Amino acid sequence: MNAISENLSIVRKRLHEAELLAGRPVGSVGLIAVGKTWPACALEEAYHHGQRDFGENYLQEALAKQDALKHLDIVWHFIGPIQSNKTRPLAERFDWIHGVDRLKIAQRLSEQRPGHLPPINLCIQVNVSHEFSKSGVALEDLKPLAETVSQLPRIKLRGLMAIPAPSDDFEQQRLAFRALREALEGLSIPSMDTLSMGMSDDMEAAILEGATLVRVGTAIFGERNQKSAVTET
Ligand SMILES: *Cc1c(COP(=O)(O)O)cnc(C)c1O
Repeated sequence: MNAISENLSIVRKRLHEAELLAGRPVGSVGLIAVGKTWPACALEEAYHHGQRDFGENYLQEALAKQDALKHLDIVWHFIGPIQSNKTRPLAERFDWIHGVDRLKIAQRLSEQRPGHLPPINLCIQVNVSHEFSKSGVALEDLKPLAETVSQLPRIKLRGLMAIPAPSDDFEQQRLAFRALREALEGLSIPSMDTLSMGMSDDMEAAILEGATLVRVGTAIFGERNQKSAVTET
């Protein structure tokens, strides 16, 4: 076995063990392989080992990989920061958008989603660690935003996403993810069934707190050279 297939098996095992520990049904947590900075051939390798959901952060890089991999049946997730003048290719070429924190972005995605495609799946990014990040809507502003976004015609509002401050402490990790779960529970919007939370170093804590999609890069593809990629640009 090569490194990527071996890493994928290890990540799947971690994911299933966390599901069991959490008392959650096997298969209740989806895995998004985050391929940012890695070439299309690395994603293709993962695909041939059964991976279908892929996450990308940088638009130009993502579009090039989509072109290179259009023969594959991939579910594309955009998980990076979104500029409001770059929403059209997102609306046209992705299945899921995770980092929406402004109404304007959601409105543009709704207007620009092509009619022959189903409504685009969207998660609202919530800021659960203010000292660490500027992106994400504040908890107190979430409810009105979610209610408005859920009414947009070409959007399927699926849930919430967060990138908490990294911590080595398991209980600290859980606290941030719990805040996101409680935020979802506080909204009663039937289409919202998704908690997009947990990465290579904290996926177990996220799964214990109810993650339904974890976004894992390093543990599958290896260490990136551009470490800063996790947060802003
Ligand atoms: C890079 C990134 C990930 C994956 O992080 P790893 O630590 O490499 O697993 C997940 N989510 C977002 C939003 C990212 O930018």
